[in-house]
Amino acid sequence: MNFRGLLIVVSGPSGAGKGTICKALVKRDPSIVVSVSATTREPRNGEEHGIAYHFYDKAAFLSMIDNDGFLEYATVYDNYYGTPKQFVIDKIASGENVLLEIDIQGALQVKKKYPEGIFVFVLPPSMKELKSRIVGRGSETQESLTKRLSSAYSEIEYIKNYDYFIVNDTVEHATDVLQAIISAEKCRVDADIEEIVSKFKEETENA
Ligand code: 5GP
Repeated sequence: MNFRGLLIVVSGPSGAGKGTICKALVKRDPSIVVSVSATTREPRNGEEHGIAYHFYDKAAFLSMIDNDGFLEYATVYDNYYGTPKQFVIDKIASGENVLLEIDIQGALQVKKKYPEGIFVFVLPPSMKELKSRIVGRGSETQESLTKRLSSAYSEIEYIKNYDYFIVNDTVEHATDVLQAIISAEKCRVDADIEEIVSKFKEETENA
Protein backbone atom coordinates (compact mmCIF):
# COMPACT_ATOMS: atom_id res chain seq x y z
CA MET A 1 0.00 0.00 0.00
CA ASN A 2 2.87 2.33 -0.77
CA PHE A 3 1.69 5.33 -2.76
CA ARG A 4 4.78 7.49 -3.04
CA GLY A 5 8.11 5.66 -3.25
CA LEU A 6 10.75 6.04 -0.57
CA LEU A 7 14.00 7.93 -1.07
CA ILE A 8 16.80 6.04 0.67
CA VAL A 9 20.15 7.80 0.97
CA VAL A 10 23.20 5.70 1.81
CA SER A 11 26.55 7.29 2.73
CA GLY A 12 29.71 6.31 4.53
CA PRO A 13 33.47 6.48 4.10
CA SER A 14 34.99 5.35 0.83
CA GLY A 15 35.70 1.60 1.15
CA ALA A 16 33.01 0.99 3.79
CA GLY A 17 31.17 -1.10 1.22
CA LYS A 18 28.08 1.03 0.49
CA GLY A 19 28.15 0.16 -3.20
CA THR A 20 28.30 -3.58 -2.59
CA ILE A 21 25.44 -3.47 -0.08
CA CYS A 22 23.29 -1.36 -2.42
CA LYS A 23 23.89 -3.77 -5.32
CA ALA A 24 23.05 -6.78 -3.13
CA LEU A 25 19.84 -5.10 -1.95
CA VAL A 26 18.64 -4.30 -5.46
CA LYS A 27 19.16 -7.93 -6.48
CA ARG A 28 16.93 -9.03 -3.60
CA ASP A 29 14.23 -6.37 -3.90
CA PRO A 30 12.96 -5.40 -7.36
CA SER A 31 10.92 -2.50 -5.90
CA ILE A 32 14.19 -0.63 -5.35
CA VAL A 33 16.00 1.21 -8.13
CA VAL A 34 19.45 2.75 -7.83
CA SER A 35 19.98 6.25 -9.12
CA VAL A 36 22.98 6.34 -11.47
CA SER A 37 25.10 9.37 -10.57
CA ALA A 38 26.99 11.62 -12.94
CA THR A 39 30.69 12.17 -12.37
CA THR A 40 33.70 13.81 -13.94
CA ARG A 41 36.10 11.14 -12.63
CA GLU A 42 37.68 8.64 -15.02
CA PRO A 43 36.01 5.22 -15.27
CA ARG A 44 37.76 2.43 -13.34
CA ASN A 45 38.36 -0.97 -14.93
CA GLY A 46 35.05 -2.57 -15.86
CA GLU A 47 32.90 0.49 -15.11
CA GLU A 48 30.41 1.14 -17.91
CA HIS A 49 28.91 4.48 -18.87
CA GLY A 50 25.27 4.67 -17.78
CA ILE A 51 25.63 1.72 -15.38
CA ALA A 52 28.33 2.55 -12.82
CA TYR A 53 28.04 6.28 -13.52
CA HIS A 54 27.19 8.69 -16.30
CA PHE A 55 30.76 9.75 -17.09
CA TYR A 56 30.73 13.44 -18.11
CA ASP A 57 33.49 15.87 -18.93
CA LYS A 58 33.64 18.99 -16.78
CA ALA A 59 31.87 21.21 -19.35
CA ALA A 60 28.91 18.81 -19.62
CA PHE A 61 28.67 18.53 -15.83
CA LEU A 62 28.75 22.32 -15.38
CA SER A 63 26.08 22.78 -18.01
CA MET A 64 23.85 20.28 -16.17
CA ILE A 65 24.34 22.35 -13.00
CA ASP A 66 23.30 25.48 -14.92
CA ASN A 67 20.17 23.72 -16.14
CA ASP A 68 19.20 22.75 -12.58
CA GLY A 69 19.58 19.10 -13.54
CA PHE A 70 20.86 17.84 -10.19
CA LEU A 71 19.00 17.01 -6.97
CA GLU A 72 22.42 17.53 -5.34
CA TYR A 73 26.02 17.67 -6.43
CA ALA A 74 29.38 17.91 -4.69
CA THR A 75 33.10 17.83 -5.28
CA VAL A 76 34.54 14.61 -3.88
CA TYR A 77 38.28 13.89 -4.13
CA ASP A 78 38.74 16.62 -6.80
CA ASN A 79 35.93 15.37 -9.06
CA TYR A 80 32.31 16.40 -9.44
CA TYR A 81 29.57 13.92 -8.53
CA GLY A 82 25.83 14.57 -8.79
CA THR A 83 22.40 12.94 -8.70
CA PRO A 84 20.31 13.58 -11.83
CA LYS A 85 17.07 15.08 -10.51
CA GLN A 86 14.37 14.01 -12.95
CA PHE A 87 14.97 10.27 -12.56
CA VAL A 88 14.48 10.48 -8.79
CA ILE A 89 11.33 12.63 -9.04
CA ASP A 90 9.72 10.34 -11.66
CA LYS A 91 10.47 7.10 -9.85
CA ILE A 92 9.25 8.30 -6.45
CA ALA A 93 6.09 9.68 -8.03
CA SER A 94 5.39 6.29 -9.63
CA GLY A 95 5.75 4.51 -6.28
CA GLU A 96 9.22 3.04 -6.79
CA ASN A 97 11.80 3.21 -4.01
CA VAL A 98 14.96 5.03 -5.03
CA LEU A 99 18.37 4.37 -3.52
CA LEU A 100 21.08 7.06 -3.65
CA GLU A 101 24.64 6.10 -2.79
CA ILE A 102 26.21 9.51 -2.30
CA ASP A 103 28.71 11.33 -0.11
CA ILE A 104 27.85 13.27 3.05
CA GLN A 105 27.82 16.74 1.44
CA GLY A 106 25.27 15.46 -1.07
CA ALA A 107 23.22 13.68 1.60
CA LEU A 108 22.96 16.89 3.63
CA GLN A 109 21.70 18.76 0.55
CA VAL A 110 19.08 16.06 -0.07
CA LYS A 111 18.02 16.17 3.59
CA LYS A 112 17.28 19.90 3.29
CA LYS A 113 15.23 19.44 0.12
CA TYR A 114 13.58 16.14 1.04
CA PRO A 115 13.61 15.62 4.84
CA GLU A 116 11.23 12.67 4.54
CA GLY A 117 14.08 10.67 2.97
CA ILE A 118 15.67 7.83 4.94
CA PHE A 119 19.31 8.56 5.72
CA VAL A 120 21.55 5.55 6.36
CA PHE A 121 25.26 5.62 7.26
CA VAL A 122 27.47 2.59 6.53
CA LEU A 123 30.43 2.05 8.87
CA PRO A 124 33.38 -0.28 8.30
CA PRO A 125 34.01 -2.77 11.15
CA SER A 126 37.32 -0.93 11.86
CA MET A 127 39.74 1.58 10.31
CA LYS A 128 42.24 -1.26 9.72
CA GLU A 129 39.65 -3.15 7.70
CA LEU A 130 38.74 0.04 5.81
CA LYS A 131 42.36 0.55 4.77
CA SER A 132 42.78 -3.03 3.58
CA ARG A 133 39.54 -2.81 1.54
CA ILE A 134 40.70 0.36 -0.22
CA VAL A 135 44.17 -1.09 -0.90
CA GLY A 136 42.55 -4.33 -2.14
CA ARG A 137 40.57 -2.39 -4.73
CA GLY A 138 43.92 -1.53 -6.32
CA SER A 139 42.64 1.65 -7.96
CA GLU A 140 44.19 4.26 -5.68
CA THR A 141 47.58 5.94 -5.85
CA GLN A 142 49.42 6.37 -2.53
CA GLU A 143 48.31 10.00 -2.54
CA SER A 144 44.62 9.28 -3.11
CA LEU A 145 44.71 6.44 -0.54
CA THR A 146 46.08 8.82 2.09
CA LYS A 147 43.42 11.38 1.15
CA ARG A 148 40.58 8.85 1.40
CA LEU A 149 41.79 7.52 4.78
CA SER A 150 42.26 10.92 6.33
CA SER A 151 38.76 11.91 5.16
CA ALA A 152 37.21 8.78 6.62
CA TYR A 153 37.32 9.71 10.31
CA SER A 154 36.06 13.26 9.77
CA GLU A 155 33.22 11.79 7.69
CA ILE A 156 32.22 9.40 10.47
CA GLU A 157 31.56 12.37 12.75
CA TYR A 158 28.65 13.33 10.44
CA ILE A 159 26.78 10.16 11.43
CA LYS A 160 24.70 12.34 13.78
CA ASN A 161 22.83 13.71 10.75
CA TYR A 162 21.59 10.26 9.73
CA ASP A 163 18.59 8.21 10.85
CA TYR A 164 20.28 4.78 10.91
CA PHE A 165 23.74 3.23 10.84
CA ILE A 166 24.86 -0.18 9.60
CA VAL A 167 28.19 -1.83 10.45
CA ASN A 168 29.30 -3.61 7.29
CA ASP A 169 30.81 -6.71 8.89
CA THR A 170 29.57 -9.03 6.16
CA VAL A 171 27.70 -8.01 3.02
CA GLU A 172 24.97 -10.54 3.77
CA HIS A 173 24.30 -9.20 7.27
CA ALA A 174 24.59 -5.53 6.30
CA THR A 175 22.14 -6.09 3.43
CA ASP A 176 19.71 -7.82 5.82
CA VAL A 177 19.84 -4.77 8.09
CA LEU A 178 19.28 -2.29 5.23
CA GLN A 179 16.36 -4.38 4.00
CA ALA A 180 14.89 -4.43 7.51
CA ILE A 181 15.20 -0.64 7.79
CA ILE A 182 13.36 -0.18 4.49
CA SER A 183 10.66 -2.69 5.42
CA ALA A 184 10.02 -0.80 8.67
CA GLU A 185 9.98 2.57 6.89
CA LYS A 186 7.39 1.28 4.40
CA CYS A 187 5.08 0.79 7.39
CA ARG A 188 5.65 4.22 8.87
CA VAL A 189 2.52 6.25 9.59
CA ASP A 190 3.21 9.41 7.59
CA ALA A 191 1.52 12.00 5.36
CA ASP A 192 0.22 9.29 3.00
CA ILE A 193 -1.77 7.61 5.76
CA GLU A 194 -4.93 9.56 4.82
CA GLU A 195 -4.99 7.71 1.49
CA ILE A 196 -4.84 4.39 3.30
CA VAL A 197 -7.64 5.43 5.68
CA SER A 198 -9.75 6.49 2.65
CA LYS A 199 -9.17 3.12 1.02
CA PHE A 200 -10.55 1.34 4.10
CA LYS A 201 -13.48 3.77 4.27
CA GLU A 202 -14.36 3.02 0.65
CA GLU A 203 -14.06 -0.71 1.22
CA THR A 204 -16.29 -0.46 4.29
CA GLU A 205 -18.95 1.42 2.31
CA ASN A 206 -18.81 -1.20 -0.46
CA ALA A 207 -18.76 -4.18 1.86
P1 5GP B 1 33.90 6.60 -6.14
O1 5GP B 1 34.80 7.50 -6.92
O2 5GP B 1 34.67 5.72 -5.19
O3 5GP B 1 32.94 5.82 -7.02
O4 5GP B 1 32.99 7.53 -5.23
C1 5GP B 1 33.57 8.47 -4.39
C2 5GP B 1 32.52 9.06 -3.48
O5 5GP B 1 31.56 9.81 -4.25
C3 5GP B 1 31.73 8.03 -2.70
O6 5GP B 1 31.67 8.47 -1.34
C4 5GP B 1 30.37 8.07 -3.33
O7 5GP B 1 29.34 7.75 -2.40
C5 5GP B 1 30.29 9.52 -3.76
N1 5GP B 1 29.28 9.73 -4.79
C6 5GP B 1 28.94 8.90 -5.81
N2 5GP B 1 27.95 9.44 -6.53
C7 5GP B 1 27.61 10.60 -5.94
C8 5GP B 1 26.63 11.61 -6.21
O8 5GP B 1 25.82 11.54 -7.12
N3 5GP B 1 26.62 12.69 -5.38
C9 5GP B 1 27.48 12.82 -4.34
N4 5GP B 1 27.37 13.91 -3.58
N5 5GP B 1 28.41 11.90 -4.05
C10 5GP B 1 28.48 10.81 -4.84
